[in-house]
Amino acid sequence: MDETEKKYRKKISRRDFLKSSAVAGAAIGTLSLGAQNAEAVPVPKKWDKTADVVIVGTGYSGLAAAIVSRQLGMSVLLLEKMPVPGGNSVIAHGGANAVDPERQKKQGIQDSTDLHFKHTMEGGDMINDPEKVRYFVDHALADAVQYLERLGVKWPEKVVRGYGALWERTHYPGTYVDKQGKNWKMGAANVRAQLDELERIGQPIELQHEVTGIVREKPLEGRVLGVEVKNKNRKMYFRAKKGAILASGGFGANIAWVTQLDRRLAETGTTNHPGATGECIKYSQDIGADTLHMDYIQAIPLNDVKPPYKATFFLIESEEVRKASISMPYRIFVNKEGKRFVDEGARRDVIKQAVLAQPPFEPLAQITADTIEELEAKCNLPKGSLVETVRKYNAACEAKKDQEFDKHSSILIPIKTGPFKANSRAMQRHHTMGGLLVKGTTGQVIDRWGKPIPGLFAAGEVTGGTHGTNRLGHNATVDCLVFGQLCARTVAKEKA
Ligand SMILES: Cc1cc2nc3c(=O)[nH]c(=O)nc-3n(C[C@H](O)[C@H](O)[C@H](O)COP(=O)(O)OP(=O)(O)OC[C@H]3O[C@@H](n4cnc5c(N)ncnc54)[C@H](O)[C@@H]3O)c2cc1C
Repeated sequence: MDETEKKYRKKISRRDFLKSSAVAGAAIGTLSLGAQNAEAVPVPKKWDKTADVVIVGTGYSGLAAAIVSRQLGMSVLLLEKMPVPGGNSVIAHGGANAVDPERQKKQGIQDSTDLHFKHTMEGGDMINDPEKVRYFVDHALADAVQYLERLGVKWPEKVVRGYGALWERTHYPGTYVDKQGKNWKMGAANVRAQLDELERIGQPIELQHEVTGIVREKPLEGRVLGVEVKNKNRKMYFRAKKGAILASGGFGANIAWVTQLDRRLAETGTTNHPGATGECIKYSQDIGADTLHMDYIQAIPLNDVKPPYKATFFLIESEEVRKASISMPYRIFVNKEGKRFVDEGARRDVIKQAVLAQPPFEPLAQITADTIEELEAKCNLPKGSLVETVRKYNAACEAKKDQEFDKHSSILIPIKTGPFKANSRAMQRHHTMGGLLVKGTTGQVIDRWGKPIPGLFAAGEVTGGTHGTNRLGHNATVDCLVFGQLCARTVAKEKA
């Protein structure tokens, strides 16, 4: 443990950490999700299926947990409520932050796992769980980047500075070619490579199997024995002999929860798949699980906005920008006054705040123009405004110094050569930083009295603690893969 880490650990004692989780627990309590409002699932007379481990969810975390569980010789029941596997992971961009000396050295980038730790903690305002973050940064390269490489995913030779990633350590975008020669990109590549591995080892996925409750010996005591499942109106019970791993994702698509936790997001759309509704958090609370950081909800302007949603800025790019990266920070954000209003490479929560403060306008379909004057006119911006903004920005690129917003020089790319493009964007609900409280070095779910719930484990976006107040862009892929595998390794040590 180096000096920086000692400082963080001292700053956030275990007591403070649990205190902060209790505060967040109180916040979610306002959503009536506490055990006092719920009925625990009674232990069934008969189990319909039994395996060593029951895994709920088929995104990055569930797939990684399933693959490693099988490698460790366990039998697996892998459940997915939707008709297709993949959750948010399959529609994600799939970028992954990891210190990668081989790639970074060639680019002259200084980095270390201590620096990744520092950025992740500071990016989350140091309320993150330091133990979990330490495990995360130490396993990012082997258990995320190289794990996917072993399954056939190819990463570009160069790392980039992803949106909100705050450093050049993002592996993005990944690609994968399946047995039929079909090309997969980004999140879909990361998911397809894992699905192919499961197919190769003969591991089925039970689609349209929705977990509707968790079975524990007693509502707030004893071991977790399995889960209650609904499949096409049939209720069933699946026994988990060694453990149940919740890999059920976040709740970005649950507008009711999000609005109660952060009402600034009431009018926003979402980047999430419709199944990102978070009910397994509630089922865990029913049997005593604690949560933390539930009200930290990330929003990003990832997709073009369509009515009924309003846009709040144009994302503008040139040929130079397209050559540099497909990532957003390399572009500029311009409001309806034709002005930049934020450092496009800033923390995601800083950008969220700035974008939400811009006046809304009716979104336009993507606009292409050969000159900035033409782009300005087609976007209905005040005459001369965009021309002046781009002139100032190009001067900043030349000087490698952004006087206005202090954007990092490595992502100052000029807007000089057309065709120029403008896309209508606004904030969209994207990632839920909070979730179940877990032990960072085992993945065990912790109850409201600070004790592990025997037999219950969780990984990925259903958990909190890795990201604190604000997730660094491209830390989530790694979080899911690393802790999905950790859960499997912990469960393997349990008695059946
Ligand atoms: C559009 C988009 C782009 C992104 N890009 C990036 C990126 O480039 N880099 C990065 O680091 N992060 C990115 N993220 C975030 C990251 O991809 C997600 O945090 C991650 O995919 C979550 O994985 P997961 O395994 O936790 O959950 P998911 O992938 O959401 O999987 C959870 C699964 O559990 C299922 N499930 C839920 N409840 C139940 C239930 N009751 N019973 C049975 N099944 C259930 C769901 O249907 C789902 O399939 C992106 C997210 C989105 C939406």
